[in-house]
Amino acid sequence: MKLYNTLSREKEDFKPLKGKEVSVYYCGMTLQESPHIGHIRAALTSDILHRYLKYLGYEVNLIVNFTDIDDKVIVKAEEEGKDYREIAAYFENEYRDVIGRLNILEPAFYPRATQHIEEIIKLVQKLEKKKFAYQKDGDVFFSVRKFKDYGKLSGKKVKDLRSGSRIKVNKNKEDPLDFVLWKKAKPSEPAWFSPWGKGRPGWHIECSAMANYYLGDTIDIHGGGSDLIFPHHENEIAQSETATGKPFAKFWVHNEMLNIKGEKMSKSLLNFVPIRDLLGEFDPNVVRLYILQAHYRNPIDYNTEMLKQAASGWEKIVNFLNISKGAGGKLFSNLIEDFEGKMNEDLGTPGAVALAFDIVNEGLKADKKEIGSFRETLSFILGNLGFDFGKEKQELSPAIEEIVRLRNDLRDEGDYGTADRIRAVLEKSGIFIQDNSQGSIWRLK
Ligand SMILES: [Zn+2]
Repeated sequence: MKLYNTLSREKEDFKPLKGKEVSVYYCGMTLQESPHIGHIRAALTSDILHRYLKYLGYEVNLIVNFTDIDDKVIVKAEEEGKDYREIAAYFENEYRDVIGRLNILEPAFYPRATQHIEEIIKLVQKLEKKKFAYQKDGDVFFSVRKFKDYGKLSGKKVKDLRSGSRIKVNKNKEDPLDFVLWKKAKPSEPAWFSPWGKGRPGWHIECSAMANYYLGDTIDIHGGGSDLIFPHHENEIAQSETATGKPFAKFWVHNEMLNIKGEKMSKSLLNFVPIRDLLGEFDPNVVRLYILQAHYRNPIDYNTEMLKQAASGWEKIVNFLNISKGAGGKLFSNLIEDFEGKMNEDLGTPGAVALAFDIVNEGLKADKKEIGSFRETLSFILGNLGFDFGKEKQELSPAIEEIVRLRNDLRDEGDYGTADRIRAVLEKSGIFIQDNSQGSIWRLK
């Protein structure tokens, strides 16, 4: 499989560091808002990567963190008059609920920053000992100028960053580029004891500490949204590589943003679409189809028209699965090879989705002998792309099948009047019956 590596700016052949095991770290949500479709794009990208690595026979050790302590979480807690833990738990539950509904595979762990304060403090101490960190008034900063490779992921140059940065925002920093590792707490804020006084971790250090704790010094793949490349991932590299003296991640995989009218979806811009609302309107498979129709490295401009198109696309797939129900067959190996060819090329889901639609079209034209093979092949591909088809529909199916059979018997006996009445009743429930020389087929509207 070829995978685009943000670090080398090239597609590279993916090979794990050791044998068949693949370690993957994804930056998860800051628990201060409801997940919106932009967050879900990142989660679906990690899901596709996770599933396809498994498909290729790898054992995937995926870690997705939650930032449960942060300025934004504290602000939200103050606004709501609640404890920050209550806020974090609420949004974590909401996230995990929608992730389940979207059939996104669970990671090995969902660690929270506050569960790793000890590791975070140790890591900051290590950086301090190596003289890459300094303390001022209870805050601890990373000294960016000392890390020679700073900017290697984002392609930014320290010189340009410095001249572009405004006057020191924080008077305690020696250099405007330095970033906080440990933050002194204000009296009302949640805090932990540390060698630098009461405080809490900075955002970037959390990920370095958790990635190291669960996955070791060097990990195979680090992922996240492209908005995290700078400064978050750049800072993670600086911290981790300074501490261990080893490369932090071999591959950096970033999905592009989901924008609304050209702007990044975010709470502060008030243009976000909570995924829960969207799932009230659309089947989770439709949302998955909508996202996977775009390559993960291309931006998506959110638009409901496209979602509606995805909904009718999904309906077409479901109808074919219903029509071909019960027909057995073998996988078409050439089509499976096509699927692998698309996916091996940097997770080419648009091609894989297009292939699924080609199969539906071919399947609809196929004779009785071959329709089952198209069905099997389609189910195989959709399943590996994480679509969850048939659960509710299959519950419905046996009953409809039975009614259609009874109606056919009536037609055979010449009772067309009753047969038509049954058809009319089913139509009212969104079930359409089509009669042909072979018998009858049904589809859901
Ligand atoms: Zn992170």
